[in-house]
Amino acid sequence: MNYQNDLAFAKAQDAQDPLKEYRAQFYIPKVNGKDSFYFTGNSLGLQPKTARKFVEEEMKNWETLGVEGHFAKVKRPWMNYHKFSKEALAKIVGAKPIEVVTMNNLTVNLHLLMVSFYKPTATRFKVICEAGAFPSDQYTFETQLKFHGLNPDEALIELTPRKGEHTLRTEDILKTIAETGHELALILIGGLQYYTGQLFDMKSITEAGHKVGAIVGFDLAHAAGNVPLQLHDWNVDFATWCSYKYLNSGPGNVSGVFVNEKYANDPSLNRFAGWWGHDEKERFLMKKGFRPMSGADGWQLSNVNVISTAAHLASLEIYDKVGMEALRKKSLKLTGYLEFLMKELSQVADIFEILTPSNPEERGCQLSIFFHEDGRRLFEALSAAGVIADWREPNVIRVAPVPLYNTFEDIYQFAAILKDNL
Ligand SMILES: *Cc1c(COP(=O)(O)O)cnc(C)c1O
Repeated sequence: MNYQNDLAFAKAQDAQDPLKEYRAQFYIPKVNGKDSFYFTGNSLGLQPKTARKFVEEEMKNWETLGVEGHFAKVKRPWMNYHKFSKEALAKIVGAKPIEVVTMNNLTVNLHLLMVSFYKPTATRFKVICEAGAFPSDQYTFETQLKFHGLNPDEALIELTPRKGEHTLRTEDILKTIAETGHELALILIGGLQYYTGQLFDMKSITEAGHKVGAIVGFDLAHAAGNVPLQLHDWNVDFATWCSYKYLNSGPGNVSGVFVNEKYANDPSLNRFAGWWGHDEKERFLMKKGFRPMSGADGWQLSNVNVISTAAHLASLEIYDKVGMEALRKKSLKLTGYLEFLMKELSQVADIFEILTPSNPEERGCQLSIFFHEDGRRLFEALSAAGVIADWREPNVIRVAPVPLYNTFEDIYQFAAILKDNL
């Protein structure tokens, strides 16, 4: 695509954007009374205007039906509430409906899935993760290993970029997997790295892991709703993600999990169980002896948090209309435009570099910009001018133009404000 560094070009792109109607379906936060330039959909996605209606429906059902809301002839009886997200979620992550369910929060699900899929033996006990993983993931790995009586310093292998590089090379990841070989029990990395914005080749990593006999899972917090995924076809064993980043479902809202169909009825897996994972036909017989539901549903512990999951359903309805393919198409153009403008800017002032890979196949919609000087001052100037971006120590600004609601003009203004403050 031929980009141009002027406002008229940005406005023309917005005018011909096939997804332009979607921005109006979200509330855009204001700064100084004007729409902000919101680039933190990677941290907290914006509120769909329909979310309130979905939540209020359940408030009304609770008000008028009380406990009967579980079974009443309403649009979405609470008994079945975990089922209403399946079709849409399955499309977003490239799965079969039986392979996905929403439950708990992301870190909780990382733990639960490690309980099932990390089964160390005396000879096969190592875990491959990425160096500098999100802290919650690091704490999960550390404490799970200790729980099994293992020393994290010995059992955990952290993938580290080559000296002088910021991101991992696929060849190096595959080499580490092959070298760890029969000692490798589990690969569990972020599908899209939260700090650098690097998108990993999940298909090749899964293949390589299986080749040496390891289980392969992904934390998709920054990938779900951002990039196209084919978890089933890639033969990924398990995955989990949160719904409040790209999936726009509200702060702290429910997490999703993927469990490959091949484990749908596998009694050999360890589980920490609860009544909502028990065979629904006899769930209310309150009998002894856990018999899980088939598929991902069998990993549920508790009955659904209906009020907050309602907001998730509102967001999934939008995703279902747009589809990941159209989103990705726009996303590539938007992020490409940001990269183009940043490169123009670096000719004016050579004070930053982009950590995120320049190959669009190796990234989603986030660019992480590493400032060699002046980062904090520029970040403050951006904030004062209505830009909502994200500051990461020591000196990185993460910018995520989200195709559902960001515009080419947002990006133009971001670069223009930066330039004015150099
Ligand atoms: C956002 C994020 C989390 C947050 O975990 P919660 O349990 O939802 O608080 C964890 N891991 C990664 C990689 C994330 O990006």
